[in-house]
Amino acid sequence: MSHDFPYRDRFPVHRTLPEHGRPRGEILTELATMAEEEDAGWESGKCSGTMYCGDHDHYAFLTEAFGRYAHVNALQRDMCPSATKFEGEIIAMALDLFHADAAVGGAPVGMVTSGGSGSIAHAMLAYREHGAARGIASPNVIKPETAHPAFDKACHLFGIELRRAPIDPVSTQVDLDWVAAHIDDDTVALVGSACNYGYGTVDPIAELGAMALDRGTGLHVDGCLGGYILPFGRELGYDIPAFDFEVPGVTSLSADTHKYGYALKGTSTLLFAHKELRNSQYFALTDWSGGKYTSPGMEGSRSVGLLAATWASMVHLGREGYRRHAQEIFSTSDRMQAAVREHPELRIIGSPSFLFSFTSDAFDIYHVNDRMRQLGWRFNGQQYPNAIHMAVTRPQTRPGVVEAFAADLSDAVSYARVHAAEQPASGAIYGGVTGGMSAEADDLIRTVMAAMLDTQQSVPPA
Ligand SMILES: *Cc1c(COP(=O)(O)O)cnc(C)c1O
Repeated sequence: MSHDFPYRDRFPVHRTLPEHGRPRGEILTELATMAEEEDAGWESGKCSGTMYCGDHDHYAFLTEAFGRYAHVNALQRDMCPSATKFEGEIIAMALDLFHADAAVGGAPVGMVTSGGSGSIAHAMLAYREHGAARGIASPNVIKPETAHPAFDKACHLFGIELRRAPIDPVSTQVDLDWVAAHIDDDTVALVGSACNYGYGTVDPIAELGAMALDRGTGLHVDGCLGGYILPFGRELGYDIPAFDFEVPGVTSLSADTHKYGYALKGTSTLLFAHKELRNSQYFALTDWSGGKYTSPGMEGSRSVGLLAATWASMVHLGREGYRRHAQEIFSTSDRMQAAVREHPELRIIGSPSFLFSFTSDAFDIYHVNDRMRQLGWRFNGQQYPNAIHMAVTRPQTRPGVVEAFAADLSDAVSYARVHAAEQPASGAIYGGVTGGMSAEADDLIRTVMAAMLDTQQSVPPA
């Protein structure tokens, strides 16, 4: 693996702290070289998701805001009242966007976390602790199979039993009867996605909300991906059902500012219908010899830079900016989906919006992926059934990208027809293993994860 260590043939590999520091200029040039080459990979518009904004002017603006506060710790509020302003206003704007005034049960509140997984983890911890206060010792949560692995991770970390509800294979929405049948006295929350990561579809939130109210449990809506784009799609008249606190029974909602909020990586918003729920996960150690310690969430020190940049993104774009970007993204997604529908061999799964997933009943869709990869495209791979998805972001809204997608897709469908009898190369990595994970696949994943962190140790000295 050592020959794979990135840039080892071009830049020095540091395995010890250099005795004498390198000049700033040299370091910045090295960083600029790597960053510019890597940015070229998505600036073509051929990469699904991840670069939600893709606008270097916006990034420069956010970076300036970040730079003013990057070194300031949000724990020390006496030194930075501005952090209280940024965080409070981010939460207030999010509460307003998601109709928290409609939430039943009083004072809606929020918090800013480090990302979607952070928001989901804090929500699960809050439900566990809130349940514990009511005497629930062995809590469980019910999520649709399609809901993000962050729920499984949080439940694993916090000792919560996670019940995975099957989905309808056509709509990809959660099986409501299954959920109803599996709620019991220890169920602290149900989960619904708006929208899910795999298919871009929205679970029946109104029905889940009614069920949660009826059975006396919570409902967390995962809007990590869709939170900052779906409300504007709704305003534009796209067929998206209500999914936020407007829906009776919704008790918490996560929405990632570092996705379609167009902020820097490292922030997400988490909102609660009532204060007791959020406050139940606060941590305080008041008798520590080091002083009285409290933190509003799991993180200790946090950079005020990220709060400043997130706040700057929100107040700069405003509703009009978010709506304009949503309009461009939704219409681009519609045009890309139309290109997929041109091919009778391809099938779009469910009723998606800005993110669409497709498969094929005629050949393994990973043949299409193989050819599209050769043509510079990067999709996200799915399994059970094998499928690939495109999360449309601003880089795809640039002129010519949809046309390139349509032309390359036709090429890839022809390629897939010719190679249908063979094994697709990318299917081995991203596709489903029949019957679930094999020992080989499990080994491979562990090897790849370790390689990310450990390869530099095996690079021969320069
Ligand atoms: C991205 C995502 C998450 C997790 O967010 P991170 O920011 O990657 O931790 C959760 N849910 C959905 C639907 C997502 O798309």
